[in-house]
Amino acid sequence: MDHHSCNNGHCACGHDHGHHKMDGTCICGHDHHSEGVGHDRSMGKIVFVLVGGILTLNSFLLNGIFPEQKFAGQLCALLGAFILAFPIIWTAVKDLVGGKVYMNELVALAILAALASGDFQIAGVIAFFLLVTIIIETRTASGAQRSIEELVKLAPDTARRLGPDGNEENVRAAELQLHDKIVVRPGENFPVDGKIISGESTVNQASITGESLPVEKSEKSDVFAGTQNLTGAVIVEVTRIGADTTLGKVQEMILQAESSRTPAVRIIDRYAGYYTPTILMIGCITWWFTGSIDSVIAFLVISCPCAVVLATPTAVVAAVAAAARLGIFIKNIAHLELASHIKSFVFDKTGTLTDGLLSVVAIHPFGETTNAKLLQVSASVERFSNHPTALALVKLAAEAEIPLLDAADFKETHGRGVEATLDSKQVIVGRANFLKERAINLKEEAADSDTMSIVYVVLDGDPIGWIGFRDKLRNEAAEMLGELRALGIRHCAMVTGDREAVAAEVAAKLQIDSYESGCLPQSKVAFVEKLKTSSRVAVVGDGVNDAPALAAGDMGIAMGAIGSDIAVNSASIALMTNDLRRIPAFLKLSRKSQVIVNQNLVFGMLFVFGGMVLSIIGVMTPVWAAVLHAASTLIIIFNSARLVRTGEELTLRETAKEQ
Ligand code: ADP
Ligand code: MG
Repeated sequence: MDHHSCNNGHCACGHDHGHHKMDGTCICGHDHHSEGVGHDRSMGKIVFVLVGGILTLNSFLLNGIFPEQKFAGQLCALLGAFILAFPIIWTAVKDLVGGKVYMNELVALAILAALASGDFQIAGVIAFFLLVTIIIETRTASGAQRSIEELVKLAPDTARRLGPDGNEENVRAAELQLHDKIVVRPGENFPVDGKIISGESTVNQASITGESLPVEKSEKSDVFAGTQNLTGAVIVEVTRIGADTTLGKVQEMILQAESSRTPAVRIIDRYAGYYTPTILMIGCITWWFTGSIDSVIAFLVISCPCAVVLATPTAVVAAVAAAARLGIFIKNIAHLELASHIKSFVFDKTGTLTDGLLSVVAIHPFGETTNAKLLQVSASVERFSNHPTALALVKLAAEAEIPLLDAADFKETHGRGVEATLDSKQVIVGRANFLKERAINLKEEAADSDTMSIVYVVLDGDPIGWIGFRDKLRNEAAEMLGELRALGIRHCAMVTGDREAVAAEVAAKLQIDSYESGCLPQSKVAFVEKLKTSSRVAVVGDGVNDAPALAAGDMGIAMGAIGSDIAVNSASIALMTNDLRRIPAFLKLSRKSQVIVNQNLVFGMLFVFGGMVLSIIGVMTPVWAAVLHAASTLIIIFNSARLVRTGEELTLRETAKEQ
């Protein structure tokens, strides 16, 4: 991370935009440099403000107490004004040299006008209030910088790396490479993402998932940067560093939020090139008619639309930070707004509405085949799959101490089944359709009314039996659907690759509005497309085999996404946990941020416009303009900061339940 001198990357408005994707062309003229997060830059500004502010204040005091000592008062005002104005004018000049005309020039010009007319006190006061606003903006809860500093603090700077000789050495976390091995002791936070290679422990992952319940970790478990190791010392192999870690992605998301714009702001952006010249022209006309330089100075200060420009980003940053604390990862920031327009939901069943932890409830071999043989054949093939049915089969085989056979040529067809060769015999395990597609006669089929998920096992073209599975609804599924309805969601649908009987049972229990069973991944997409013709649709899935459907929805929400790249890639929203209540919480957050953005925009525009009129008719003095300009910006900032606490009741409720 490079820290440039204290004014780099700042506009007069002072927003530090650390985002590299931006080209620095917003109305405010914010430079968007990829600078690191640090205190030094805002510290630099605080020094300017303190020294300049004291000098300016001193000049007022001197004038008041020793009115005869004109020179001392003037000198203080002069020095103060120059110290305060320097960072602002410097940025404005740099922008002009770079061929950009933005809002900075308005304030810079107001200050120059005040200096030129010999009113150093006014110049000092204007610059002082502007700088104070800048500092408060970066330091408050709705500021991206502050949010990110809080995240950065979660991941420690140093790590204990295990050398090849088994010695521990202290290194800076930034020096860690992939596949390095580090030791993390109880009470310490993990500096990077990694996999435990030895030891076991419990970990508090609240900083990433928002769930305060500690998670058990043992060998092969993934651990994440910024989470807290609670009970055991573990050796971790580094799997992701820096910006690639989950924590790093959350930071990037917050930076992205800072450059977000609503349509209103985009319109302002488009006309930004005209805004400053228009204001200057009106300023000249005002001067011509009133002859009052004070009116012009006040006009220039108040027409600087900081409040309008900050209306959206401050609210979005606060909302995104609040979401991150709940374990809601907003990959596409535009979807924070979109979420408030969603009217329909489509849920995947297995792993989404149900917990996806299947257990075998029936083993039905055909003919001579034994239960053990059926289990052995199927588990030997399924051990290469991650599908819930596969995990259940392998687990049961292990419990029954059935030895697995060597399988070759494994192939999985998502949403259908798996196949492999076992002792040069071909084995297929999958749903009924998967086998019928291959013209295999199933012999005996399970009764249509059986409410279990069923896979058939075929050995060398010959069906040898079927196995039935069941999982259970997630505890909070019904509550979540109730909350969605209360939020005005009109249609909640379910799509599943499972059998009709199972789907019907789940749909009835949860009072789902419509469902489709026996779906293939494409038919899930078709279902979503059809629903999309009548309303905005959000698709919720567990991310692995629901990727096409997630991408087909207006908005895709992936469940249990912590550590999973696929989910995060295909969805626009990723829930780090499997807690379905995060969905209504996200909708509420989205709506609340919409309300706050609108409040901010209306207030900001009315304020700027009203202030202009008051300045032109000579009611507004430059000092009042500076004070009100700062006040209006702060009102926006603190209004947005109200969002930061949204959803806190959800985590509090969880914490209370534990105790
Ligand atoms: P859902 O839509 O409910 O999440 P999936 O699309 O994951 O279900 O799977 C649909 C059906 O395909 C399952 O019910 C199962 O019968 C079959 N299937 C998918 N993958 C496998 C597998 N690895 N082994 C056996 N059967 C599978
Ligand atoms: Mg699924």
